[in-house]
Amino acid sequence: MLYEKERNIVLNACREMLKSNLTVGSWGNISLRTEDGNVVITPSGTNYSKSLPEDMVITDIEGTIIDGKMKPSSERLMHYKIYKNRHDVMAIVHTHSIYSSVLSVTDDRIPPITEDTAMLLGDGVNVSKYALTGTIELADYVVEGLGSNNATIMKNHGAVSVGTDMERAIVTSQVLEKSASIFITAKMLGRVNILPPEDVAKLRGLSENYLKQWKNWK
Ligand code: 13P
Ligand code: ZN
Repeated sequence: MLYEKERNIVLNACREMLKSNLTVGSWGNISLRTEDGNVVITPSGTNYSKSLPEDMVITDIEGTIIDGKMKPSSERLMHYKIYKNRHDVMAIVHTHSIYSSVLSVTDDRIPPITEDTAMLLGDGVNVSKYALTGTIELADYVVEGLGSNNATIMKNHGAVSVGTDMERAIVTSQVLEKSASIFITAKMLGRVNILPPEDVAKLRGLSENYLKQWKNWK
């Protein structure tokens, strides 16, 4: 099967997304950029717990289908636009996670509040502007909200996390959701202390070496 290894990486990431409660139903979508510049993307509107490797859709970065019987994710324009603008990004995870979605509705950015937030998300996470799902406007706004960061919250929608590989994109989506829940809970208690900017810069700088220590990372 064409891109068998990559299809399995995407499918396993979908299972991890469900296991981590980062989405329900068929919402959310995931893609991986292949070494030769194509994209393995989840099919639209499917139950990931029942999906098979052959259900993943292979397209080029313009959206032409190379292999696959199913319709590629309705959010594919956003995935392609991110890959075109961020040459470092090899994997994208779009979730409808609860706490990030709360902040997407209140339009509150997440400041740098804990070690893992700062390591993976630097100075915090912006809320990108609203546009209707599946549109090129949404793709443009997400790229703008992402900037050079690893995640953005999508206004009145959900969140997007990216990484230089799928493991990093997934753990970033998990840390984003954890950070959103801590931030909301702290706000409810009435106090949010943020990390000193000089420590945020240091933690961001430490992140790559830290992640490489984990035996599962490449
Ligand atoms: P798909 O099922 O088409 O991937 O869309 C889900 C979604 O989250 C749209 O934003
Ligand atoms: Zn969505």
